[in-house]
Amino acid sequence: MLEQAQRVLKDVFGYDSFRGRQAAIIECVANGGDALVLMPTGGGKSLCFQVPGLLRPGLTVVVSPLIALMDDQVATLDELGVPAAALNSTLSTEQQRELAGRLRRGELKMLYLAPERLVQPRMLDFLRGLDVSLFAIDEAHCVSQWGHDFRPEYLQLGQLAELFPSTPRIALTATADMRTREEIVQRLHLQGAERFLSSFDRPNIFYRIVPKESPRKQLMAFLGERRGNAGIVYCLSRKKVDETAAYLCEQGFPALAYHAGLPAETRAANQKRFLNEEGLIMVATIAFGMGIDKPNVRFVAHLDLPKSLEAYYQETGRAGRDGLPADAWMAYGLQDMVMLKQMLQNSEGDERHKRVEQHKLDAMLALCEETRCRRQALLAYFDEILEQPCGHCDNCVDNVQTWDATEPARQALSAVYRTGQRYGVGHLVDVLLGKDNEKVRSFGHERLAVFGVGKGTDEAQWRSLFRQLVARGLVDIDLEGYGGLRLSDTCRPLLRGEVTLQLRRDLKPQTVAKTSGGSPASQLVRAEERELWEALRVLRRKLAEEHSVPPYVIFPDSTLLEMLRSQPTSLSEMGQVSGVGARKLERYGQAFLEVLNAGEASTAPVPVTDLRHELISLARAGMTPAQIAGQLDCSEKNVYSLLAEALGRQELSLEQALDLPEDLLMEIQDAFLDGEGELPPVTTISPLFASRVPEGVLYCVRAALAAEFEL
Ligand code: ADP
Ligand code: ZN
Repeated sequence: MLEQAQRVLKDVFGYDSFRGRQAAIIECVANGGDALVLMPTGGGKSLCFQVPGLLRPGLTVVVSPLIALMDDQVATLDELGVPAAALNSTLSTEQQRELAGRLRRGELKMLYLAPERLVQPRMLDFLRGLDVSLFAIDEAHCVSQWGHDFRPEYLQLGQLAELFPSTPRIALTATADMRTREEIVQRLHLQGAERFLSSFDRPNIFYRIVPKESPRKQLMAFLGERRGNAGIVYCLSRKKVDETAAYLCEQGFPALAYHAGLPAETRAANQKRFLNEEGLIMVATIAFGMGIDKPNVRFVAHLDLPKSLEAYYQETGRAGRDGLPADAWMAYGLQDMVMLKQMLQNSEGDERHKRVEQHKLDAMLALCEETRCRRQALLAYFDEILEQPCGHCDNCVDNVQTWDATEPARQALSAVYRTGQRYGVGHLVDVLLGKDNEKVRSFGHERLAVFGVGKGTDEAQWRSLFRQLVARGLVDIDLEGYGGLRLSDTCRPLLRGEVTLQLRRDLKPQTVAKTSGGSPASQLVRAEERELWEALRVLRRKLAEEHSVPPYVIFPDSTLLEMLRSQPTSLSEMGQVSGVGARKLERYGQAFLEVLNAGEASTAPVPVTDLRHELISLARAGMTPAQIAGQLDCSEKNVYSLLAEALGRQELSLEQALDLPEDLLMEIQDAFLDGEGELPPVTTISPLFASRVPEGVLYCVRAALAAEFEL
């Protein structure tokens, strides 16, 4: 079975080997077993049901919650030459009838359906009359009432177990937590299913979280290194989305906006452009993302703090589905915390629910202030242990330092207390630094014992300290009042000197740039490869337009990149490139080869052997030495000496090599053959022809004569 699966993988999808647990999953399902698959975004879930679907005899029914996702998958299968269709509300009655006909005749291998449609009694009856050999339930976490994506129709999918007792079912999700997992098993009646749990690590994503100082400037610096790449910038409010998108456009970055306040047509149009064009930046609220399968999103930037690690993981996870390097970047500050805490306070819901949300926010804050490996911390939250620091996050590469903040923290707490627990960070820092300004005077704070005790620490560091005190819950924000700071119960041991406090030392932005250099994603292609890379993308774009599909459906970036690096020169070599299956090779192989080979001549220096080869074919094709020199971008003298070599090996005739009137050629030949025995050197006869032909011509004629008479 696995051998056949391997063949399908290569022939249809163009890939060489299975990833992670794909092989085991496919074997289980293709043999008729049920499976529960938990795999992160980009892990390769689709193949887990598409390959068994092709191995089994009948139809595979795929349940998917979003029309956009279905269309994307159907287009992808279509390009691979797999007969597939989606049955959804966008089809006319006529089209639906036609589709039903194709299904009855067994012409399709995969059918995509929304859950609400599948569970209609008529639909179930219809399917029972067909040869359904596999059910795949994608985004299976939609069955969970606790999750954000709950879909009531998913609850009814449980009946498939009774209605189709002998048809295997595979449920897939990228949601990791234990509770959701158990709910899927219960509600979909998958008690007997084999479980396949993958690591939720996304090794190609580089995580960086920076303290927010001047967010726009910081964002520009981040984007500046990533020009030409597609990415998402998340903001909390609609207003900020609009403003940020407008600002980016002003600054010369192609940006679009997306939030629930925009007209549906604008949203749809912007989403479509983001999918179909290269290098666009989508500035969005979290309304954007679910169902965005674009594999080459190179970065996700957060200008505001997500409200939980689940949200952070999911949003950043939209970067780098294709497995190529990608960045998750976030700027966060005290104001974010104030805002989210306020929102939480004012939200509806019972106290218990609010407490849960508060814990989630605290975990998010802890990640921001984390001093150890971010990836280890993130995965630990999802109960996964990463043994070693990852080496691929800011904390790992910047070598973050901590400092003993016990004494300054006590000074800060004391300042909060002495000023009456009602002021914000700005004022508190002024007091600690001993700034003699109007506000300080008007409250008489210059007379406090804490006034000016903190001069040894600079303003930025004080702000960082307060932020970390809040993040750790040592200080609370007064959410009813004006957001002033109050002592919390947990700060007592610190005040009493019973514990010490280690805090993260924020790096200065310059230091960050120096220590980590450009990010991995910005180095996807090297400067000298850029021209050819763009040429490949232009061709892909053109083909995508002709076929009305997004560019990544033609070939993913990873495949283009491999073409760029391995430089196939023939169709058979092209077929070796990962992602080039039989159908795509046939359809697109030649076009991409032409771009690659044209690109090669103009970008890379041509090796000498290739140059000779090329020169001979150009000469045979009738080009003059001057034309050849122009074509190969080398001197005429060089061309003559290479021609002379070729003539010496009798690979060319004199007529092919030179562009001379026949009588002149004979005259030169006679001059060489005048003497007895040996051919004279070129220098002997060159005075005779000095102004009439280039000296190179004489070398050529001599070489030809020498070869002909074996002299
Ligand atoms: P998921 O649904 O888990 O987010 P996809 O099924 O969309 O992931 O796969 C992500 C990308 O990885 C796709 O471009 C897919 O073609 C590619 N991929 C999946 N499996 C393999 C494999 N075995 N070898 C190479 N590429 C693969
Ligand atoms: Zn790390």
